[in-house]
Amino acid sequence: MVGAGISTPSGIPDFRSPGSGLYDNLQQYNLPYAEAIFEINYFHHTPEPFFALAKELYPGNYQPNATHYFVRLLQDKGQLLRMYTQNIDGLERMAGISPSKLVEAHGTFSMATCTVCRREYPGEDLRADVMSSAVPKCPACKGVIKPNIVFFGEELPQNFFLYLADFPLADLLIVMGTSLEVEPFASLAGVVRSSVPRLLINRDPVGPFAGRALRHNDVVELGDVVGGVRKLTDALGWTQELEALMAADRGKNHKSETANEE
Ligand SMILES: [Zn+2]
Repeated sequence: MVGAGISTPSGIPDFRSPGSGLYDNLQQYNLPYAEAIFEINYFHHTPEPFFALAKELYPGNYQPNATHYFVRLLQDKGQLLRMYTQNIDGLERMAGISPSKLVEAHGTFSMATCTVCRREYPGEDLRADVMSSAVPKCPACKGVIKPNIVFFGEELPQNFFLYLADFPLADLLIVMGTSLEVEPFASLAGVVRSSVPRLLINRDPVGPFAGRALRHNDVVELGDVVGGVRKLTDALGWTQELEALMAADRGKNHKSETANEE
């Protein structure tokens, strides 16, 4: 289970933090409050602030870090049952995590849906509009197309409910970079069997890892998330593999950037 704390080392800005470029950028829209950006009724009459955020977070602006590639290694070694993420930056997919191994609990920019006729479009179809700060419109009905990000009051993605089968099957739960404050995501940590070790790699003790709910087999590694992941990778003897994987992907991403310039 992962949250925003695994993406801040990649430079993903927190749009709620004054002083971050994104927050300042959103000020011009006079949002009644920051969360309005994810409210469907607000979006229906004023989609521009959400698309300003979309422009910033659209896949391609940021690169995955060691945390994402550590999960990719778990996948490559057949050790990953599923990755549950609260993040909407798409860095898991960029790091090569297979969509079938991924539950993007708060949605994804990889797909989009017309708010009027419900036709679905690949996120790439919207890229040109998003990047030129235009609100993407449905070619079929001219309705606004909304990326499949889960707004307040919207249903979670269907595959979120895989947790009902996944969590009882897990034999290790790793929780990284999340405040475990947003439900229903936050409660998942309590769904694994009590015999299953749970490892928290996080800046602060959170959720069941804070206070009296701690289990005898819980392990808590506090501090910088990337530092904690590197420590674990070291202990597993996977550091060289992780470095090789990251270097290979940096080369790949660089090549595609060069290709775009051509
Ligand atoms: Zn439509």
